[in-house]
Amino acid sequence: MSDGRDLRALPEQPWALDGEAVVEQLAGSRGGLSVHEARARHAHFGPNELEEEPGRGIAALILDQFRSPLIYILLVAGLVTLVLGEYVDTGVIAAVLLINAVMGFTQEYRAAQSMAALRQLARAHARVLRDGREREVDAAELVPGDVIMLEAGDRVPADARILHQAAFEADESLLTGESTVVAKSVEPVPAQTQLADRVNLVFTGTTITRGRARAIVVGTGSSTVLGGIADSVREIGEVQTPLQRRMGQFARVIGIIILIACTVGMVAGVARAEPLGELFLSIVALAVSAIPEGLPIVLTVVLAISVRRMAQRNVIIRHLPAVETLGSCTAIGSDKTGTLTQNRMTVQRIVAGGSSFELTGTGYRTDGEVRDAAGSVDPAAEPDSPLHLALLVGALCNDASLLESDGQAEVHGDPTEIGLLVAAAKGGLLKDVLEDRYVRIAEIPFESETRFAATFHRDDEGVRGHFVAVKGAPEQVLAMCGTDAAGGQLDREAVMRDAESLAAQGLRVLAMAYRELDENPIDVSDPHRHVQGMRFVGLQGMIDPPRDEAIEAVRGCQRSGIRVVMITGDHATTALAIAERLGIAAAEDRALTGVDLDRIDDAELTDLVTNVSVFARVSPQHKLRIVTALQRVGHTVAVTGDGVNDAPALKAADIGAAMGRSGTDVAKEASDMVVTDDNFASIFAAVGEGRVAFDNVRKTTFFLISTGAAEIVAVLASLIFGFPLPFRPAQILWLNVVTNGIQDVALAFEPGEPDVLTRKPRPRREGIISALLWERTAISGAVMAIGTLFIFFWEYNAHGDLGLARTAALTTMVLFQVFHVGNSRSEHRSIFARSPLLNPFLFVGTLVALSIHVASLYLPFTQFLLRVEPLD
Ligand code: ATP
Repeated sequence: MSDGRDLRALPEQPWALDGEAVVEQLAGSRGGLSVHEARARHAHFGPNELEEEPGRGIAALILDQFRSPLIYILLVAGLVTLVLGEYVDTGVIAAVLLINAVMGFTQEYRAAQSMAALRQLARAHARVLRDGREREVDAAELVPGDVIMLEAGDRVPADARILHQAAFEADESLLTGESTVVAKSVEPVPAQTQLADRVNLVFTGTTITRGRARAIVVGTGSSTVLGGIADSVREIGEVQTPLQRRMGQFARVIGIIILIACTVGMVAGVARAEPLGELFLSIVALAVSAIPEGLPIVLTVVLAISVRRMAQRNVIIRHLPAVETLGSCTAIGSDKTGTLTQNRMTVQRIVAGGSSFELTGTGYRTDGEVRDAAGSVDPAAEPDSPLHLALLVGALCNDASLLESDGQAEVHGDPTEIGLLVAAAKGGLLKDVLEDRYVRIAEIPFESETRFAATFHRDDEGVRGHFVAVKGAPEQVLAMCGTDAAGGQLDREAVMRDAESLAAQGLRVLAMAYRELDENPIDVSDPHRHVQGMRFVGLQGMIDPPRDEAIEAVRGCQRSGIRVVMITGDHATTALAIAERLGIAAAEDRALTGVDLDRIDDAELTDLVTNVSVFARVSPQHKLRIVTALQRVGHTVAVTGDGVNDAPALKAADIGAAMGRSGTDVAKEASDMVVTDDNFASIFAAVGEGRVAFDNVRKTTFFLISTGAAEIVAVLASLIFGFPLPFRPAQILWLNVVTNGIQDVALAFEPGEPDVLTRKPRPRREGIISALLWERTAISGAVMAIGTLFIFFWEYNAHGDLGLARTAALTTMVLFQVFHVGNSRSEHRSIFARSPLLNPFLFVGTLVALSIHVASLYLPFTQFLLRVEPLD
């Protein structure tokens, strides 16, 4: 292998070795592998994947097409014709069976394919050091020896030995069944230690609940602990969505109604002494043609199309039912930062040592400057000034990175921290340089609950000795401070006033604190002990402008009857200022804060939730309460989330939407959909697609049952009144082929109507077919039936030729149904209001069906099979 070292076997019992020895055995380094080496190992060890459950085979899918009661009836009918010697009818029935199977198969196969393609999109990623740089790779590319970075909310991508950690805890219940979290460490444990107590390892598939760590991969793919027991944790097969279940029931009810109608027809026919064989075949054909057996598959097609359309709009559906629920969503609870705003934090103001400073320049470029009322200042030149310390803390208590080349900034990490790095750089303080001198020795990672972060440093030049740098929400940081920057009395009220005034301008405010530690060497085993009695050094206020599309989308939501609620960890004043710009709140509105929420009970919250649109300084637990309160007042709620603790709220909501970029694996797994661009506007777009999906299901259902009704009425009326039947059995089956088979699926491709996003949400419990559509089914069914019978008798009376009259009747029915497809395209508008070209699939499909029918009238073969004659 390359890099001059060789790795053939994975280390045994890595938990019993110290970190250095594991690195050694893996022929790696703490700085990670080279890209070249990683590639070589990938070729040797194979991808980091568990073997996939084989999907349903093609043969099974084909066989499935013949497993329905209707097909059984047809098969029996086929046998009967065979026995009776009616070989032409046998042929037609066989053809119908075949065509049905082929169409059913292609549709299901395509649906399954596009679902599989989408699952690929949702693959896991891992952060890894390669060539000394941090990068994100597909988890399948990890190899033994890779150094990976893990933090709260991650799903562990491979078995790994921890090399460095801070407050690191994992939930390993997946493997051990124990629900308590495990605190991790880097120390070796005895060789005979049980799996659950190997605290210096992390295992594939478990989740990180707190802190962060660096670890070296010791097992991938099937050589992980999970790989050994994979069979027991594989996901269970796909479940049906509520709509699919309802559709199944609906189709059964319709089927039963049709069977009853057919029985009535049979009885009437027998009473009138119709020839039995012909009668039986007609009734069977009628049942087959009228029962909307295509409905369940059309539904799958609609859902698949919808899922694909949503993917094009940056929403990945993880649970199919979300498609339907989205369509009836009435409230969206959204995070602020990054979802409603751009998440491009730019520090605009700093208040330090009682003076106020302004920073020029935009975005992540560092070519701005720091100015006070008198002009440009140089903080780097005054290392003891509060301004210098405020920038220093911002740059050191920071895990982001900023690389500038040719004026282009390449950034990594949390935008809040990037903003602080850029601000420090504008003041002449560069993180890389600072970190060489002030070595980080410990840290307390940021958590949304505690709202602060701290890092501990040693000054290699000895000037500052050991010190701790803290940044976080002003209330939090002030509570840790004892003095001002100069060591004098701290005026807390003045600081809060400053913070408030920055927040009122819509700025996100972070406070900075600093403290030199006297202990030498310092004991960092309990770092929280040191973050008190600190010196308050300043405030940094950063702008994070609303996204333009979010302003549009909020307006769209309001037009379409959807409430938008902002749920943020940020300060109430900042949140309100931004909410006002987004149109979520009005100037006189009030925000509810986490503190308020702790004071009131659920009943009171339920009362308040109808009037309050901004929730600020809330923690994930509060988010859950807000979601359930909205549900209690009758909302169908979508909620966004990204953190590990957002999972309960994401699960409780009707639609949990995890953020694709900032979201943790835990949040994604708890969610129904993932918004890949973290953008509020994408959620709104998905709601629109959800509505279109439901509309299309309804249109197709309406089309199928009303054409079925027309056929039933025409045949039944003839039988009951003792007229000759308007169609031969083969012709009835033919109707099924030329009108239903293609058009129903084509209707599934209908684009949205112009009003999808301006009308009110559909009540969630509303049936697939509304009362209005039942009425229309009856009317259109009757019109088509009467029209067809009219033509039939007219022809019959004129020429006395039954064959010709039947051909005319059949053609009339085909024309009616073709016209009716157009009718079914909108619930609210006429066929003429919608251009046929909007859905080319439907347009072409209909033309093809029509041409096939016309051709069948003139081709000798079909003339013989269907007993049709050319019409003049
Ligand atoms: P949202 O919930 O809308 O995404 P948010 O991103 O502001 O809002 P959090 O990330 O939970 O919510 O941040 C809450 C508060 O914690 C912020 O207002 C800020 O004061 C502080 N904070 C945010 N990021 C950091 C950080 N990296 N280090 C220290 N403090 C931070």
